[in-house]
Amino acid sequence: MNESFRAIPSVDAVLRSPAGQAAVERFGHEQTTAGIRQLLGNERTAARQGSPLRDAEAIATLAFAELEAASASSLRPVFNLTGTVLHTNLGRALLAETVIEAAVAAMRAPVALEYDLEAGKRGERDDHLRALICELTGAEGATVVNNNAAAVLLTLNTLAGHGGGAIVSRGELVEIGGAFRMPDIMAQAGARLIEVGTTNRTHEKDYRTALEGEGVSLVLKVHTSNYRIQGFTSAVPATVLAKLAGAAGVPLVNDLGSGTLVDLARWDIRREPTVREAVAEGADLVTFSGDKLLGGPQAGFIVGRRHLIAAINRNPMKRALRVDKLRMAALEATLKLYRDPDRLAERLPTLRLLTRSRDEIAALARRLQPAMVAALAPAYRVSAADCASQIGSGTLPLDTLISAGLAISATNGSGAALERLAAALRRLPVPVIGRIADGTLVLDLRCLEDEAGFITNLGSLADELGRRQDDGLV
Ligand SMILES: *Cc1c(COP(=O)(O)O)cnc(C)c1O
Repeated sequence: MNESFRAIPSVDAVLRSPAGQAAVERFGHEQTTAGIRQLLGNERTAARQGSPLRDAEAIATLAFAELEAASASSLRPVFNLTGTVLHTNLGRALLAETVIEAAVAAMRAPVALEYDLEAGKRGERDDHLRALICELTGAEGATVVNNNAAAVLLTLNTLAGHGGGAIVSRGELVEIGGAFRMPDIMAQAGARLIEVGTTNRTHEKDYRTALEGEGVSLVLKVHTSNYRIQGFTSAVPATVLAKLAGAAGVPLVNDLGSGTLVDLARWDIRREPTVREAVAEGADLVTFSGDKLLGGPQAGFIVGRRHLIAAINRNPMKRALRVDKLRMAALEATLKLYRDPDRLAERLPTLRLLTRSRDEIAALARRLQPAMVAALAPAYRVSAADCASQIGSGTLPLDTLISAGLAISATNGSGAALERLAAALRRLPVPVIGRIADGTLVLDLRCLEDEAGFITNLGSLADELGRRQDDGLV
């Protein structure tokens, strides 16, 4: 026993080994030493049990591998084969190349973020985007905050923050994923919710009566983006609401959610109301997201009447919700792509993925099927099949886009085997995320653009599946 304890190398010996030196070079002395000490603890356990021991070089190599794994970002790039293009849990919109370059340039150097280069004095952060947003939406004024939830919060707090009444239809009291519930946001903003109408029907007279009450500060219209009420329904159009609110002397706020700047019908996607339309309908303020259909970084836009935007900018909360130079740069570059709508579908990844044809995706599925069969046969059956993609982020939830992908099932029909495969795919160097439904794992290929990278990535799939089975970790 003593004999084997003496065979355990010292920390210094491990550090001096070639792999130890390489680890110090890469990760520094402190982390490497801590890693080695931990592994030497395992060696003492092995010695106690009479198991074979590692030499200094082997321990250093192991330490190197563990430090490398620990230093990898936990924000791992993944293949999004879920079929949901704007997947909130996978970070929503991908940015266009020019947008990435603009953000990188803003990271590298000081920028004139709040500095007026002509006058040589302090400028305004919003100046960079205001004109561009107004040009694209037809609004008089604009500002940008952290996300659309912040845009709604800030708008309500500015206009109705001291218990002012905010009139909303009961059919529009939405919950957006991730704990954004309209009544809760109202309460946090300090506004008093005045519900009108019923879940399925709200009429002009409901608003009219509410507007006659005391202390009304605004009328809020919420785009019911993530659900639809069908059947015996009735809602009051924004144009009518604008007239009612205007006559009562209070602003109409329209929370569009996934505001789009272009008419999607142009690309055969069911149309969502555009921001320009919402402004033209007479809303005094319109709020929408930066990273949904707009296809930019996370942000929330507030556009509309100049004096209301000025009031929002005077709210101290604005300072807490503002965006940094990286996102300003990325937003500016994203918005500029909209000046050339003819090439938007080529340049803006969100639109490029949404408009990809089924035939193109199906051809990709046929090309990838053999590689997948090679990795998975005979335990799994793989076929190229049609499937349905979604836009995501609560946009047009009932409208699916016809797509294609790989449909995989376990040859023995076992659900556990399918889960095992899904887990192995998630352990690949670039994790592959699909979706399981009705005993089939579907890899929707709509969002796969790096075909070669995907095939290389499959290289360790058979191993991943086999290893876990051998380890009994299944
Ligand atoms: C998505 C959405 C929000 C929240 O926007 P984020 O940018 O995710 O904060 C608010 N309102 C509506 C109607 C939405 O669809």
